[in-house]
Amino acid sequence: SKSLVWFRRDLRAFDHAALHHALTSSNSVYCAFIYDNTILDSLPRADRRVEFIHACLAELDAELRQLGGGLIVRHADAVEAIPTLAAELGVEAVFVNGDYEPQAIARDAQVAARLQAQGRRFVSYKDQVIFEKSEVLTLAGQNFSVFTPYKNAWLKRMAAEPDCVVAYAVEPHAARFAPPVGEERLPTLGQIGFEPTNLSALSIPTGMSGAAQLFEDFIGRIADYGEARNYPAVKGPSYLSVHLRFGTLSLRHLVRTVTQLIARGAGGEGAPVWLSELIWRDFYAMILYNHPHVVERAFKPAYDAIAFETGPDADELFAAWCEGRTGYPLVDAAMAQLNQTGYMHNRLRMVTACFLIKDLGIDWRRGEAYFALHLNDFDLSSNNGGWQWASSSGCDAQPYFRIFNPVTQSEKFDAKGKFIRRYLPQLDALSDKEIHAPWTVPPMVLAQKKIVLGRDYPAPLVRHDEARARTLERYAVVKAS
Ligand code: FAD
Repeated sequence: SKSLVWFRRDLRAFDHAALHHALTSSNSVYCAFIYDNTILDSLPRADRRVEFIHACLAELDAELRQLGGGLIVRHADAVEAIPTLAAELGVEAVFVNGDYEPQAIARDAQVAARLQAQGRRFVSYKDQVIFEKSEVLTLAGQNFSVFTPYKNAWLKRMAAEPDCVVAYAVEPHAARFAPPVGEERLPTLGQIGFEPTNLSALSIPTGMSGAAQLFEDFIGRIADYGEARNYPAVKGPSYLSVHLRFGTLSLRHLVRTVTQLIARGAGGEGAPVWLSELIWRDFYAMILYNHPHVVERAFKPAYDAIAFETGPDADELFAAWCEGRTGYPLVDAAMAQLNQTGYMHNRLRMVTACFLIKDLGIDWRRGEAYFALHLNDFDLSSNNGGWQWASSSGCDAQPYFRIFNPVTQSEKFDAKGKFIRRYLPQLDALSDKEIHAPWTVPPMVLAQKKIVLGRDYPAPLVRHDEARARTLERYAVVKAS
């Protein structure tokens, strides 16, 4: 029998649930990736994610060729292309790894229906999370909406079912992989209608080899993660998010490695904290799957009553935030990091999101959409979870009256202004103390340092104490409900 493995956000040729099951249940396995027009058409022509995928596919194809197969790559509407390809190849089944985003679920349902009409099967496996859908439940059999008890139940279940992190072997049985039909070549970036970005200049490692390299580097410093992850100027986190997004590594492998470290008493204080972050990822995927309304609305309905700022003034505030012109150095440096690299440190995601919502009074959905467009690791569930956390409207979110002060956050987490100086060199002459709030520096001192507010760097858009008061008023509708 013949089958087709449709790769989507699982761009690797090892420990791969769909590939493993296809190889163990069919004689001949084809592999395909579709550059889906329904996704690509809405993106700007220079997009780091598309270029990242393009690089990953080259490595995946080479690896599959080593195993006796190869990748068929098409540029089309996936709902049409997969059933067409399945018919051309005469496969009996299409194997995929499941996706939990509402649009992907709808797309897969359409593909499955078309395949069924042709007499073919569509088979989906769990792969991108450890526990999916409603696998982790409260004692009363409900889905969790608070993280800590979810995490405890998750850890308990993993301890009880160690098989859940065992690798899905991809054996190199040459006879079982079918090479692409004809002389198919992978399309160039230009052929799919995209232009190169600064991705290669950023030296973000791509593909399975890039992911492995980053993970190896991170494991060497995981013990310090708990503390180091808070400081944006420090190499604290793993930088694996884009690889988790596109599946160039196996989450099971990460979890297995880290739990083994913990069991051996290695990995210091950092390893359990990092495992916790991976569990947050599962948590938000579970929330999105069970509560798809979060894509449009607040997780907690009472928060839909909040009236955010609208109109031209709000548009101007939003544009200033996007372009890093708020006058708050930590916020502006963070937005520069996002705009220039497609990455933003986790603490800064929290700071910039809170600033947009609670200092500028702008609807969280606008910030969410901006992140979605610019983050290399954009993942609907984690991005939405992060933004609803910041707007206090999500599950287990920051209480609305706890509002980050962008200056104290800066003094605490970038005390010497090292991160700020990296992205805002025009402020370099300011002292470690001055750099967090340039408007508080006497104009004479600024002049000596050749900095004019409004010329070299913006004056602050809002006063934090006033903005804070406005936000408490705005959010009062929640308390009243
Ligand atoms: P590490 O600190 O090394 O963490 C390891 C992995 O754990 C990450 O790669 C990620 O998969 C997961 N993780 C860590 N923190 C979180 C979290 N809070 N929620 C869910 N998973 C987490 N993460 C995304 O992957 N995509 C997004 O689109 C995204 N948007 C965010 C938006 C906001 C407003 C906020 C506050 C957070 C967002 N995050 C998002 C979560 C987090 O900021 C990133 O996962 C992290 O900064 C990625 O860097 P890293 O891989 O070096 O992280």
